[in-house]
Amino acid sequence: MKPLKELTRPNVWRLKPYSSARDEYKGVSASVFLDANESPYNNPINRYPDPLQGEVKALLAQVKQVPAENIFLGNGSDEAIDLLFRAFCEPRIDNVVAIDPTYGMYQVCAEVNDVEYRKVLLDENYQFTADSLLAVADEHTKVIFLCSPNNPTGNDLCRDEIVKLLNTFDGLVVVDEAYIDFSDSPSFRFDLAKYPNIVVLQTFSKAWGSAAIRLGMAFASEEIIALFNKIKYPYNINILTQQQAISVLQRKEEVAAWVALLRQERARLADELLQLPLTEKIFPSQANFILARVADATAIYNYLVGQGIIVRNRHSVSLCGNCLRITIGTPEENNTLLNAMKEYKQ
Ligand code: PMP
Repeated sequence: MKPLKELTRPNVWRLKPYSSARDEYKGVSASVFLDANESPYNNPINRYPDPLQGEVKALLAQVKQVPAENIFLGNGSDEAIDLLFRAFCEPRIDNVVAIDPTYGMYQVCAEVNDVEYRKVLLDENYQFTADSLLAVADEHTKVIFLCSPNNPTGNDLCRDEIVKLLNTFDGLVVVDEAYIDFSDSPSFRFDLAKYPNIVVLQTFSKAWGSAAIRLGMAFASEEIIALFNKIKYPYNINILTQQQAISVLQRKEEVAAWVALLRQERARLADELLQLPLTEKIFPSQANFILARVADATAIYNYLVGQGIIVRNRHSVSLCGNCLRITIGTPEENNTLLNAMKEYKQ
């Protein structure tokens, strides 16, 4: 890996971050707070939240077995994706490399930040090789984006190739693990010490059942986390989100039971969909959704909308012609979908 200073935008490296009132006084012994121009009237959200979310991170450190110093919390993992561009990619000079197809926000954030986005098509099994990504990288490639399990394909990327990339690429490698809780593969968050160039993304939006609170995690070296914290909005995670995160982290057994049921339903849905004449292929999934190739994705999508059932039509996505992406619901919701699909007349 290049020295972090060389990877970081010079203005970000030099930046003296905004120092908020709650950064400057962190103690709890005081009883009169006249430092932050807040309202004194407890309604009860009159005080600014902890800018570095100490309580959430302390609990998360236990649950995820990652030291709090290696954790960044953002307004969804989308915030961490955007911060990667803002911290490391000089607009119109630097570029990033990503697999295709994958999660659409990497490209959107690249375009918003005026950073070139280089895509490398996956193979017919939705796999990649480290060499094919390295072949399009150059000295201005700051970040390579991987997503495993991948969205919308649902498969885990080959671990050996991810490791090869981590060992050979001299910039940052992002491994987006939004769906890792549904996978049999271990997370890369346990390998932060081995790979100084890794940034692992996870989220409260999927397995943790908390998409509405907008809370994403990035796990990386202390130095990378410090850079994110330097450029984020001062109070990026509001108090209601912090409270809800603590509450759901304390119910991790209930969350594990949801995940187990969703994995079971994923297998059942895949089996039953495969029996239907309209299904051409079910791609193996390690996520909480299934990618299904069907006879006519757009016609079936529209038919399902008419039945009040919304899936995602991925027909226009690379390598996903005539594919629908179906999120695993409750057993009842999955049955409703299956019954509607059974009644579809081709
Ligand atoms: N990464 C992937 C692969 C996703 O599919 C999604 C959401 N669909 C996200 C990140 C965004 O997650 P969040 O809600 O934490 O912003």
